[in-house]
Amino acid sequence: MHIQNIFASQKPTLSFEFFPPKTPEGTEALLVTIKKLATRRPAFVSVTYGAGGSTRALTRDLVARIKRETDLVPIPHLTSFGHQKTEICELLESYATLGVRNILALRGDPPKNSSAARGEFPFARDLVQFIRQFQHSNESADAGRFGVGVAGFPEGHPATPNRLLEMEHLKAKVDAGADYICTQLFFDNHDFFDFRERCDHAGIRVPIVAGIFPITSFTNLRRLAELAAGARFPAKLLRLVQQAGNDPNAMNRVGLDYAIEQCAQLTKEGVSGLHLYTMNQSAAAEAICDNI
Ligand SMILES: Cc1cc2nc3c(=O)[nH]c(=O)nc-3n(C[C@H](O)[C@H](O)[C@H](O)COP(=O)(O)OP(=O)(O)OC[C@H]3O[C@@H](n4cnc5c(N)ncnc54)[C@H](O)[C@@H]3O)c2cc1C
Repeated sequence: MHIQNIFASQKPTLSFEFFPPKTPEGTEALLVTIKKLATRRPAFVSVTYGAGGSTRALTRDLVARIKRETDLVPIPHLTSFGHQKTEICELLESYATLGVRNILALRGDPPKNSSAARGEFPFARDLVQFIRQFQHSNESADAGRFGVGVAGFPEGHPATPNRLLEMEHLKAKVDAGADYICTQLFFDNHDFFDFRERCDHAGIRVPIVAGIFPITSFTNLRRLAELAAGARFPAKLLRLVQQAGNDPNAMNRVGLDYAIEQCAQLTKEGVSGLHLYTMNQSAAAEAICDNI
C-alpha cells in the first residue's frame, strides 16, 4: 500500500524497524521475530541499508522475503552516498517488480576509514527527486510512483549545527517530493514536539513519525551514544538507569517503562506515527504494543 494511503487510514501508525542479518541463520531467526510482530498489525516495517551499499543484497533479499512470506508492508531504506544513478535504478527496478511501493530515502554516511566519493547524489534531497521521477521499465507492471520517506532529527543533525539552515535542508527534501518524515530516536518528547512545531513553522506539512528506542540494557545505552551520535540522554532517564544498577531485569524494566511513557504522551499529543527501533528483537516491541 502507498504510504499516503496508510497515513490517511491510520493515526497513529505503528511500525517496526529491522536490520538485515549477515548470516542465513540470523535471517531465519529474524523472520521468526518478524512473523511474531506481524500479529501486532504494524502499518509497515522498515529494513535498513548498510552504509555505502554494504548490505544492498541483504536488504533487498530480506524485503523480498517479507513480501513473499507475510502480508506486511516493507519499506526498504536506501542510502545514496557513493552510489551512481544506474545502481539506484537497478534497485528501484527490482523493488518495483517485487511490488514494493515505498522507500525511505537517505544520504547515509561514508563508511568508516573510507575515502569513497559521494556519488551522483550528494544529499538525500537528490535521491528523493530521483525516486519521484523514476519510471518502471516494464510498462505492464503497475508500479505506480513510489511513496518516499526521509529522515528528520528532532535534536539536530550533528553535521549541520546551524539549525535554521538544517530546517531549510529538511524543507528541501519535502519539497522534492517526500511523503513523510521518520525521526531519529530521541528520549525527551519535548524535543519532538518542538521539532514538529518548527516543521510546521517552516511550512512542512507531511506526517512526522516518531522514532522510539527502548533501552533494554546498559550496553545498549553505551552503543547508542556511539551510534546515534549527538543523542541526548535526559537526567531523568540517567537517574532511572543508575537506580537499576547492575540488575539486568531492572534495567530492562526501566527502558520499557520509559519508552511506554514516551509513546503514551506522544499518542495523547496526536503524533502521526510511532516507529519502534527493534534491534531485531520482539520482546520490547511486544511489551510496548501491549501497553499503548
Ligand atoms: C529514520 C532514520 C533511518 C536511517 N536509516 C539509515 C540506514 O538504513 N542506513 C544508513 O546508512 N543510515 C541511516 N540513517 C542515518 C543517516 O543516513 C545519517 O544520519 C546521515 O548522516 C543523514 O542522512 P539524511 O538522509 O538525513 O541526509 P541529508 O538530508 O542529505 O542531510 C545530511 C546532512 O547534510 C546537510 N545538507 C542537506 N542538504 C544540504 C545542502 N544542499 N547543502 C549543504 N548541506 C546540506 C543536512 O543538514 C545534514 O546535516 C538513518 C537515519 C534516520 C533518522
